[in-house]
Amino acid sequence: MNPLIAPLVALSLMAGETSARAASEIRITNAGSQPSIKGAAENFTGTVRVDGLFKGDAPARIGGGTVTFEPGARTAWHTHPLGQTLIVTSGVGYVQQEGRPRQEIRPGDIVWISPQTRHWHGATAADGMTHIAIAEAEDGKAVTWAEKVSDAQYQGQ
Ligand code: MN
Repeated sequence: MNPLIAPLVALSLMAGETSARAASEIRITNAGSQPSIKGAAENFTGTVRVDGLFKGDAPARIGGGTVTFEPGARTAWHTHPLGQTLIVTSGVGYVQQEGRPRQEIRPGDIVWISPQTRHWHGATAADGMTHIAIAEAEDGKAVTWAEKVSDAQYQGQ
């Protein structure tokens, strides 16, 4: 081995040995093994369902799921303590940061919402929309919900 990089390799191996980790594991949650969950009426307007919920084991903080909004359906206003990533997989939707115009999102779009940014996301009035939502939890909490998005707010008025 190149004598210049050998010490670096040794260091990285030691780091691997000293960090606490659970036993090696690959876990597959099979499709169809979790029931769909209906979005809670206090946190969503319209019909929303959540499939494929996932959550990493500590010390990982990652979690999320696939969220499907029927036309007109949307989240309430909310924030995420460590931010959120949305990956749109079908349909046409909106995401809006408070104080800014709503923005249209389409399949393949990737949305980053920074920590503590008040926002909502959902379908357009004419089309449903599905996105994968990924957020890290802080102290076990990945979202803080606020009031519903009014029809006027939803319509961009
Ligand atoms: Mn969000």
